[in-house]
Amino acid sequence: MKIEDKKVVQFHYTLKDADQNLLESTEGDTPVAYLHGYQNMMASLEDALSGKAAGDKFSVTLTPEEGYGERNEEATQRVPIKHLQGAKKWKPGMVATVQTEQGQRQVTVVKVGKFMVTVDSNHPFAGKTLNFDIEVVDVRDASDEEVAHGHAHGVGGHQH
Ligand code: ZN
Repeated sequence: MKIEDKKVVQFHYTLKDADQNLLESTEGDTPVAYLHGYQNMMASLEDALSGKAAGDKFSVTLTPEEGYGERNEEATQRVPIKHLQGAKKWKPGMVATVQTEQGQRQVTVVKVGKFMVTVDSNHPFAGKTLNFDIEVVDVRDASDEEVAHGHAHGVGGHQH
């Protein structure tokens, strides 16, 4: 069965940056599941998966624009340390949750002072070239319910 619209696809991936540093991998973990053709995946990645079948292995490289966008240097700001949620003690590189007018946001801690912390609200992979090694694990027809919801259910997909 080939990957096309209204198929639920399960795949493993290993993601590396331009210098081949490992960023993320699902190997040894649950594969990702998504509903093809419903913009649940970065468009370039979905294009690369299109027409593939279970057992296929391939690599695809995404530019920063195709991935998480370019870094926005204005997205770095100083906030009171008491506004950070997720840990008691903060160190550079840690990921914190902050409450903003747009709701909760994940930020990366850049610098820690006594009362103020410098945080970066760019996505951790913003500005990075993304090298994906992909292995398609399973391709199946989506259920009517999945098509109605616009996402995959079950292992690796949406849990209700
Ligand atoms: Zn659903």
